[in-house]
Amino acid sequence: MHEVSLMATAVEVAEQHARDAGGTRIRVLRVRIGEASGVVREALEFAFEAVTVGTMAEGASFDVQVVPTLCYCSNCKEEFTPTSVFRECPTCGSFSADIRQGMELELASLEVT
Ligand SMILES: [Zn+2]
Repeated sequence: MHEVSLMATAVEVAEQHARDAGGTRIRVLRVRIGEASGVVREALEFAFEAVTVGTMAEGASFDVQVVPTLCYCSNCKEEFTPTSVFRECPTCGSFSADIRQGMELELASLEVT
């Protein structure tokens, strides 16, 4: 499962940050995932539980923020929120491959003690 390796990497990065900050435990870990990233929130939460065992983040609360998809239409020169997987522009109906937002997968913040 894709999400497990993603979370394992995220927790490694978080631990590095926590150590750099002089912390010993990660209390809260917040991530941002884009709607269009293909990452499933529930799978990520499950993976978090699994990969944090024995790490500084064991028992931490895990907070997922979902970033909505935003596309750009080159005809209308406008950004829009797609309503289907085909990402068609609501104004002119053309399909957009230009995703401006929604592909995120990043650590948003950490609380360390
Ligand atoms: Zn358009």
